[in-house]
Parts: sequence; structure tokens; C-alpha cells
Amino acid sequence: MVWEGGSNAVNGIWTQFGGNLSFVSLAMSLWALFSIQFQRRSFMQERIAFGIIAGGASIGSILLAVEFHPGIYIDLRFSPLALAGMFGGPIAAAFAASLAMAFRFAVGGTAMVDGIVTMAVAAGIGVAGHFWTRKRSPVLMDVALLSLALGGALVASMALLPTLVTAHVLAGVGFPLTALNCLATVLGGFVLLKTQQWELERSILVTAFSQSPDYLYVKDRNSRFITVNENMTRLFRFRTTAEMTGLSDFNLMSQPLAEELYHLEQQVMETGTPLIDSNERIEGRFLLASKVPLRDKQGRIIGLAGVTRDVTERTALERELRESKNLLSHAMANMSDGIAMYDSKGFLVFCNEQYRDAFPLSGDARVVGAHISDILRRVVETGERPAITEVDTEVWIKTAAASLHSNKDEEVQLHNGDWRSIRTRIAGDGTAMAVVSDITATKQAEIALRLSAEQLKNLAETDGLTGIVNRRAFDEAFARETAGSARKNTPFSLLMVDIDRFKAYNDTYGHPAGDQCLRVVSKCLRQSVSRPADIVARYGGEEFAVFLPDTSAKGAMIVAEQFARRLAQENIVHSGSEFGRVTASIGISCATGATLRTSPNRLLAEADAALYEAKTQGRNRILAHSRENGHALKETG
Ligand code: GH3
Ligand code: MG
Ligand code: MG
Repeated sequence: MVWEGGSNAVNGIWTQFGGNLSFVSLAMSLWALFSIQFQRRSFMQERIAFGIIAGGASIGSILLAVEFHPGIYIDLRFSPLALAGMFGGPIAAAFAASLAMAFRFAVGGTAMVDGIVTMAVAAGIGVAGHFWTRKRSPVLMDVALLSLALGGALVASMALLPTLVTAHVLAGVGFPLTALNCLATVLGGFVLLKTQQWELERSILVTAFSQSPDYLYVKDRNSRFITVNENMTRLFRFRTTAEMTGLSDFNLMSQPLAEELYHLEQQVMETGTPLIDSNERIEGRFLLASKVPLRDKQGRIIGLAGVTRDVTERTALERELRESKNLLSHAMANMSDGIAMYDSKGFLVFCNEQYRDAFPLSGDARVVGAHISDILRRVVETGERPAITEVDTEVWIKTAAASLHSNKDEEVQLHNGDWRSIRTRIAGDGTAMAVVSDITATKQAEIALRLSAEQLKNLAETDGLTGIVNRRAFDEAFARETAGSARKNTPFSLLMVDIDRFKAYNDTYGHPAGDQCLRVVSKCLRQSVSRPADIVARYGGEEFAVFLPDTSAKGAMIVAEQFARRLAQENIVHSGSEFGRVTASIGISCATGATLRTSPNRLLAEADAALYEAKTQGRNRILAHSRENGHALKETG
């Protein structure tokens, strides 16, 4: 608005205002058109360009000003400045305001200073609006508020600025001037809002198109590129997408391949049938191509849009997965072990045939989807594992099922005597992996080995001549059994037996007869003891020891007498003996508690002493060592 000295004429004022309004709106619309071009440039360049156009609109409006009073002109110059501030920020506002203010300065005149001040205020209001909406996109309400603020500022300037007050501008054109500037602001703002919205939509589309990881292109009816995305330019080593416009596959690929694609595309465009996900192999890459015909408003096909996806990596991964799956199932099928996988809830997820075969009676229950409890129930029902003797089988099933999810190694025997080892391992996700091996052969070997070890032990512990326990085994058993009796505080008795005049027997009848005699004596001894814990041993050449756990001296005496009787019954003729037959002398000792614990060997010494005494007293007798009567020996036989 230019107010300048003079008088006359409000004639045709509205027509002129209409023209002015059209010019401002045209400028904003032009910006809407060009802004897309500027979007590709820098933020700063775009803001400056907007500022220049807004400044131009303001100047244009000054040039088209309406003469309200001689020398005082009114126009819509404030509206573009406010809009530049709101939509272009301080940069656009500064450029627009500087241009317009410089022009106004060049024009000069009475109201020059007032005009410039009001222009600065208008731009400032716009910038305030910009900061008001900087955290979001402005909406129509913001534009309305901007126009109201501008209107208010104009009324204030007409009421306050000296030159304008003197010319009574407010009273003369205050209303139309304010109203039209507000209207121009709302109209221009609306255009700019729409422009911003389109720009956003467009930039989303452009970004999606240009940044897509797929190869995107649009071709004309002759299969020439209209546009391509950045991925395409990279693939064919162009710098910009524009360089590819107008080219066709014939410029990019080998003749036969280009021809093949050309025919394919022409077919799509002729038939109107899109081509979806067709497999292509170009230069060793696996591609998945789709081509869709493009139609104009009348439905005529004007070209095609294509999407090609590079699935080389995916195809390779798929092949790798397939191969490793094959390898795995091959390995599973050919391994000798049974393998099974149970999920964390106990359901069988996978198993091989060997796993089923490893359990002949419950194998049919071992199918994918079966629960471990049902499989174990079948094991119980069929008696596949005879070792399961629990009375309450449901309790056993429950505990066994619960223990599925723990690392363990088990060895189980089946109904047919076969053995299985079951190794269970738990994975991080709670899956249980069971490997079942047939260990029957190993187990049988182990049992055989244990048996022969036992036999060996027996051999080492028995006397070859008589078949009774030898001295070594006697010593071991003696130490063990005396300790046992000491613990239990029960009496422990020992018999020492020595054949009388045996040297003479050998001399008379020969050594083999002597051996036979030893066998008979040992048989008589064995027959004289009755308890399993009693042990008869060959203690030395023709000396025998018998120990009787949990037996008193009296009991020992009974055993000794029994033996003497049996030997007498055998009646082995011995001409060299004063008794005319083979006899034996026996010494007995007995101990309990403390003696047994502290000095078990005393028992041996005492029995030996009693035996010696029996020999001294004339042989063929039984003497018991008695501790009660000092160390005197008691003859009981
Ligand atoms: P005594 O009544 O005092 O016991 O007289 P004895 O002749 O039996 O004397 P002694 O107990 O010292 O005799 C040991 C003899 O036993 C020596 C040996 O000829 C005989 N003898 C030892 N071991 C064997 C054996 O394995 N076989 C045979 N045939 N004789 C044995
Ligand atoms: Mg002897
Ligand atoms: Mg003897």
C-alpha cells in the first residue's frame, strides 16, 4: 500500500483490487508450480527462491496499486510478505521484505517511511507465525490466524503512523484494505498449504521409488525407459537417472537378451496381461521380474511399469538350506543310533526310524506329536522294561516324564535282554534331545568280564588241593569279620586244626595219599560248620583254620567235637599213629568287644597256644584257651 499526497477517486477501486488480488494469487500459484523444481535443490536455495517470488508479488502489487487519495495508493503488498515469513521462515521473509522495501524506497513519496515500517511488521508477523508452527506443519487455522494478525497490524498502522493518520486513511479505505489483505493471505496461504501437502506426498512417492531396494522402471510403448530408480542407475553404472531416459534394453544388454525382453514387454503391452514374478537369470544373478501395463485415462496402454527383485542371495540361501536339510536327514537316516527330539512340553517333535526300532514293543507309540507320558505308559503296559517294578506305575510315568528335561545318561534293559543306552541333553530353548544306542554287545561283554573277574577272584582265594579258602583269603576275611563282630559286640571264635603225625603218614603211605587225606580232612571240616558266615581255610601245610563269627567258645567246641567225630567216622588207617588212624589236635580261642577291636591277632596266638598244648598233652584232643582262668587252657574234648 502506497500512500502518497494528492486527492480524488475511489472510482473502479474494486475492479483494480480484483486485479491486484489475482496477481498476488498468481504469484503464489506460480510458486506452487516451481517449488517442485526447487525441492531437488538445497533447503537454502528453496527458501531464497520463495523469498524472491514473494518479494516480486509484493512489488507487483505495489505497481498495480489503487489510487485512493491523490498520492496515496492502496494495495495487497503485505500479504505475500506475511506468507513468505510463515511458509519460508526468516530467510524467505528477509529476501521478500528487503526486495519490496527497497522498491518502495526507490519509489519515494510522503508515506514512504510508514509504508516501509508496515511492510517490516507484516514480514515479522509471518516469521512469528513460522515459529509458532515450527514443530508441526501449518494448517488452515494457522493461516486464518495469520491473516487476522496481519489485519490487526494494518489497522494499527493506519491509526498510529503519522502520515496515514493525517490522510485519514483508516476512515477512508481502512475496511476494504484490511479485508482484502486478509483475503489475499487466506487464499495464498491455502495454495501454499496444498503445495506443501503435495510436495510431501510427492517426496514420499519419490523416495519410495528412488530408494527402493528393487529395480523399478517405467517404459514407454516402445520399451524405452521413461524413468528408473537409483538402483537401476547403479546397476547399469549411470550417474543420474536422467541419463537412462530414452534408452532401451538394447543399449544395456546383449542383443539376444534385449530382444527376448523386448518381446516379452511388447506382449504384456499388447495383451494387457501383467507378468508377475517371472524368473530371469541375467549375468549369473537370479531375478524375479514383474511387468504391469500402464494405461491412460481412456484405458489405452501407454507403457509399462516394471519391478525386478534380485533374489540371488535368497535363492542361494534357500538352496543351502535345502542341501543341509537333505544332508541332515540323510545322516539321520543312516546313523546307527536312534535320535529323538522332544519339545519343552514333552511332545515328540522329531525322531528317526532307528529310534522307533530301538524299542520293539513301544516303537509304535513313538510317533511325532505323541507325549512322553503316553510313550512311557506303553512301555509299562507292554512290559518292555522288566526292571520297572513300581507298584504305582502312574507315579513312575510321572517321575520319568518329568526327568525327560534333564541331562542324563541311562542304561536300560529290555524284555528280550537287550540293552539300550539313552543319552538325554537339554538345549537352551528347553528342547530335549535323546540319542539311543544299542549297547547289548558291550553290556554282555561287560557282564562276561565281571563273571570271569569273579571267577578269577575265587581262584585266587581258594586252595587248589582242597577247594577251600586259602591263607590269603583267610587273612582278609579274618580282618573283616573280626572287625564286624567287634562292631556288633558279638563273640568270635577261632579253631586251629593240625593233623597228628602227618609227616609219618606221608612217609608211610606216600605224598599223594597224604594229599587225599588232606582232602578228606577239609571235607570233614566243611561238613562240621553250618552257617554261611563260617569259613574253613587251609592255614598251612596240614593245618586248618575255622572261624566262626557270632559264636561263643561253647559253640566253637561243639563244631570241633563234630569235626573230631566225623574224622573218626572216616577211620583213615594210620599205622604210624598211636591211635591207629588219622586224628587231629584242635586249639580254640574266643574273643569279644575290645579285644577283637584292638588286637584281633591275639585270637590267632591264643588258638595256636591251645593247639600246641593239645599236642603236648598227647594229641587227638580239643583244648580251648580260657581267659577267665588267667591263661590256663581248658580241655573240653
Ligand atoms: P604232629 O602230630 O606234631 O603235628 O606231627 P606232624 O608229623 O604232623 O608234624 P607237623 O605238623 O610238623 O607235620 C608237617 C608235615 O605235613 C610235613 C609235611 O610232610 C606234611 N605236609 C605239609 N603239607 C603237605 C601237603 O600239602 N601234602 C602232603 N601230602 N603232606 C604235607
Ligand atoms: Mg603241622
Ligand atoms: Mg601235624
